[in-house]
Amino acid sequence: MSAPEDGHDVLRLISPLPGWVLPLAEIPDPVFAGGMAGDGLAIDPTGNVLHAPCDGVVVLMGGARHAVTLRSGAGDVLLHAGIDTVSLGGEGFSLRVLDGEPVRAGQPLLEFDLDAIVRRAPSAVTPVLLVGARPGQLLQPRVNRRVAVGDFLFAIDTRREPAAPALRAAAPSQAAVSHEFRVPFDHGLHARPAARVAGALAGLDAQVMLRARGREASARSTVAMMALGVERGDLVVAQISGRESEAALAALARLLERVTDAAPVRAPRPPSKMPTHLAPVAGDRLRAIIAARGLAVGVAVPLQGIDPPVGAALGDAKVERDRLSAAIDAVSGSLRELAAIDQGARRGVLDAHVALLADPGLHEQARARIARGASAGAAWRETLRAAAAALAALDDPRMAERRADLLDIERQVLRVLGGAPPSAGVQLPDRAIVLASELLPSQLLTLDVTRLAGLCMAEGGATSHVAILAASMGLPMLVAAGAAVLEIPAGTSLVLDAEEGQLLVAPPAAAQARVMTQIEARERERAQDAASAAQPACTREGTRVHVYCNLGALAEAAPAVAAGAEGCGLLRTEFLFLERAQAPDEDEQLAEYQAIARALEGRTLTVRTLDAGGDKPIAYLPLPHEDNPALGLRGLRTSLARPELLAAQLRAIVRVAPAGQCRVLLPMVTEPDEVRGVRAQLAAIAAELKLNAPQLGIMIETPASALLADLLCAEIDFVSIGSNDLSQYTLAMDRLHPTLAPRLDGVHPAVLRLIQRAAQAGAERGIEVGVCGALASDAAAVPLLLGLGVRELSVVPAQIARIKGLVRRVSLADCAQLARRALELDSAAAVRALVREWS
Ligand code: PEP
Ligand code: MG
Repeated sequence: MSAPEDGHDVLRLISPLPGWVLPLAEIPDPVFAGGMAGDGLAIDPTGNVLHAPCDGVVVLMGGARHAVTLRSGAGDVLLHAGIDTVSLGGEGFSLRVLDGEPVRAGQPLLEFDLDAIVRRAPSAVTPVLLVGARPGQLLQPRVNRRVAVGDFLFAIDTRREPAAPALRAAAPSQAAVSHEFRVPFDHGLHARPAARVAGALAGLDAQVMLRARGREASARSTVAMMALGVERGDLVVAQISGRESEAALAALARLLERVTDAAPVRAPRPPSKMPTHLAPVAGDRLRAIIAARGLAVGVAVPLQGIDPPVGAALGDAKVERDRLSAAIDAVSGSLRELAAIDQGARRGVLDAHVALLADPGLHEQARARIARGASAGAAWRETLRAAAAALAALDDPRMAERRADLLDIERQVLRVLGGAPPSAGVQLPDRAIVLASELLPSQLLTLDVTRLAGLCMAEGGATSHVAILAASMGLPMLVAAGAAVLEIPAGTSLVLDAEEGQLLVAPPAAAQARVMTQIEARERERAQDAASAAQPACTREGTRVHVYCNLGALAEAAPAVAAGAEGCGLLRTEFLFLERAQAPDEDEQLAEYQAIARALEGRTLTVRTLDAGGDKPIAYLPLPHEDNPALGLRGLRTSLARPELLAAQLRAIVRVAPAGQCRVLLPMVTEPDEVRGVRAQLAAIAAELKLNAPQLGIMIETPASALLADLLCAEIDFVSIGSNDLSQYTLAMDRLHPTLAPRLDGVHPAVLRLIQRAAQAGAERGIEVGVCGALASDAAAVPLLLGLGVRELSVVPAQIARIKGLVRRVSLADCAQLARRALELDSAAAVRALVREWS
């Protein structure tokens, strides 16, 4: 091999690990050993921190933690800690860098538990590869020797264009045909399957773009495919064009599961667009998850995604510096203008963004990157991502918001660099229904709310901050509607139905008019309900139903009282425990609970003990990793496993004055013994403090507790049904599951039967039975709950007036009849249809 001497045509890689260097052929895996993923060396490690072998930008693969790719001047360098380690599900791996973060050679990237890999994976041997290397591109690959971190490993000839395909390949040059595939690999498109896909297409004259989870990747790039983050069972759309497209399709079909036949051939589209076969047509109904309830009739306003491209340099360093300054000035000016006419939360966000844009440190770092050859956009993105990573390292509780702000100003400046007007200047038409991949909270705040009718996101979750913000602004919002929403052309008439979880595309005028009439009737009802929000709520025959609020923090308490809350039916105390270095002690908890009790002005305060563990991990609680967090150590189980935490929390609650205002609520109960233990502990604490023990209640949120409700009710003073978890466990559907979540509906007859059982058990013991899960805030579910015997509803503060109004409009006799019919139905959809017809 004619190895050029070190110089600017050669990139020297240093060893990322201490250990023994092996040729790829000795890796116990045919894909790596056969060079399908790229060319390089392997290291049998003796250390457990993987370092950067060269300067580059980090590319992470979906949620994977066992491998890191560095985008370097010579192409993509893949570091894969161990073989088949994807099967460890991230356990024992801890990333030290973020996606998109620029790193220097020698910087730690990833820490791993070497013992665990040795025990649980086929091999700890770590390939270090140049992805898609050309023959002869690897220089001086010396093997069978010991290396320390930082020792020379091999070099890469950079004289010609790197062969590694770009993450986003160019658009297909000829008409592309779309095909859908399902990913059959156990751990999704991780390194080896991705390498097999790329390998299968090698040598074929065809362009293949894969699209999934709102991302796009060339099927020739192993790294790009891994970065899609797709998992087993995910749908992937392949757009195939070129002379040998048939052979490419056949090659893909041998590896992936074919789902659909080819869609009709269409003209090629720019790469930023979604595959055309997904474009919805008039009359389509797109299913989605409800993030904020309500209805809207309006017109589609597609918004650009949150991750605009960085763009290439248009000139020398001075040109790029000037472009960046001009873009920053344009965004700042526009935000300042908006801030000048705004008040409250919106103004706070705008001012914060203006201040960040003026940060001299950010300017200086971006200019330094431009001086090293980066384009204005690349320099800005790298600077902002590095700043975000620095914030992450601080472990500051407010870090998440500030990182989101950094991401936001990154996006706004990049958009302007790309030729768009400043984002703050987005002009909405009247009754705009904004469609986006995913919105940042501050993006929402810069939209003109007077023209905004609703929001529909292709991705996102119902519990994101932007969803919470939308609910507080009274904006109906759908999430996880799928990539098809991004294909809806601007100006298309839409009905956003965030009661049924669907977006209707260009529905007939009569359907739009019907929904409009409903919206107007609701507006009238809303005005009436708001006027009587402070009054108690009784059904038509005069039965009192308590409408409480759910709280997460002190700041929410006074506004909830002003909105008509008769007390707090659920204080989620976990928020006090999150995002900090250690648990709040007894006195800190007492101060928080006491302040909330005061803000409630004597009304009942139901304090739920810490509902942590499982999917709500708390960093300082050393709980074991769980393969199935929802079924693991969470809720009361965590508290029982950490008795010192439970004791501090119970003591704080007992000490709140006046005695009797607080009640204790236990989450995730499954059997009476768990409750008896806490009851005894509570009594002992109260005796020691010479105070009265508060009332003790449980959440019914496991099928076990619903089925044993009669026995549990003998141990407690009140019951609150956690319909969110009760639905999850009854229907065996993860409440965070991206595709199952729309079917996770608490009005499913199976869930209603369990609620009925709990309500009956409570009635027999003379115990008040409430609901504090999302079902209590759901107007369609409330008549059913009342009909089943529920007499306390704890709802999100924004829904208090509405739920009280609804209670006043129904009769319990009618509700009981409705509930009896619902219990005999066979699906949640049938129950919802019944309630629609009834109301
Ligand atoms: C529930 O499960 O319904 C509930 C109220 O608890 P959380 O949503 O906090 O799990
Ligand atoms: Mg729960």
